[in-house]
Amino acid sequence: MPELPEVETTVRGLARFLDGEILARVTLNRADLRRPFPPGLVQALTGARVTGLGRRAKYGLIQTDRDRTMVFHLGMSGRWRIEPEALGKHDHLVIETGSGHRLSLCDPRRFGSVDLVDTAGLEAWPPFAAMGPEPLSPGLTAGHLATALAGRSAAIKLMLLDQRIVAGLGNIYVCEALYRARIHPEKPAGQVSRAALTRLVPAIRAVLDEAIAAGGSTLRDYAQPDGQLGYFAKAFDVYDRQGEDCRSCGRPIGRIVQGGRSTWFCQRCQR
Ligand SMILES: [Zn+2]
Repeated sequence: MPELPEVETTVRGLARFLDGEILARVTLNRADLRRPFPPGLVQALTGARVTGLGRRAKYGLIQTDRDRTMVFHLGMSGRWRIEPEALGKHDHLVIETGSGHRLSLCDPRRFGSVDLVDTAGLEAWPPFAAMGPEPLSPGLTAGHLATALAGRSAAIKLMLLDQRIVAGLGNIYVCEALYRARIHPEKPAGQVSRAALTRLVPAIRAVLDEAIAAGGSTLRDYAQPDGQLGYFAKAFDVYDRQGEDCRSCGRPIGRIVQGGRSTWFCQRCQR
């Protein structure tokens, strides 16, 4: 599943082909992904100029000069293909730009989404309205976490997956950040010390920044936006390493299930 670093690298890759470009032709090859495409999408985008690209949590943003922003989510299996040699049955939305680039949004499982939102109203758009701060923004601080987690008895791991606490963090990077900050994933969130939260914030940023720097992907079938099927064998410390040696203490990495999802951690290093 594309996580925040994949979305960030996708947006950066798309920007090279879309920023400042006219969307000369927009084609939908079916009516829906997870939800129907918004009515009037093709009309709203065709002929518009792209004025900027961005990201909020795991959503990509393509802003236009018509004060509307196309908001996309890659779901489980979505990816953008750049200059695809041939379009396949999973290329559901195709954009051709004024300078002749062709890009397609390919999503075999169709858990992704595309929305059209008034740019001025983006922050108030329901999926964004209740979101916590971006993990790579100055808004994420130990003080914010201390306030948001105060009195909460749920496990810190689960609270960090809650988009209202921090936006856009997924399973992989929560596991990695907790390891790096030496926090036990089952610790009740309200009992994590201020010192530990102060370690956690830079740990979250570091694991995301490193993944973005590595190119983002963690999945074999994830395509880079330049059309190359590429993924990046990012060396995780704990994720999916059950039974392998902890790089710090040498003990085997453990795995537990929290909220129906696996957590990998070191029982010795994380308290
Ligand atoms: Zn260890």
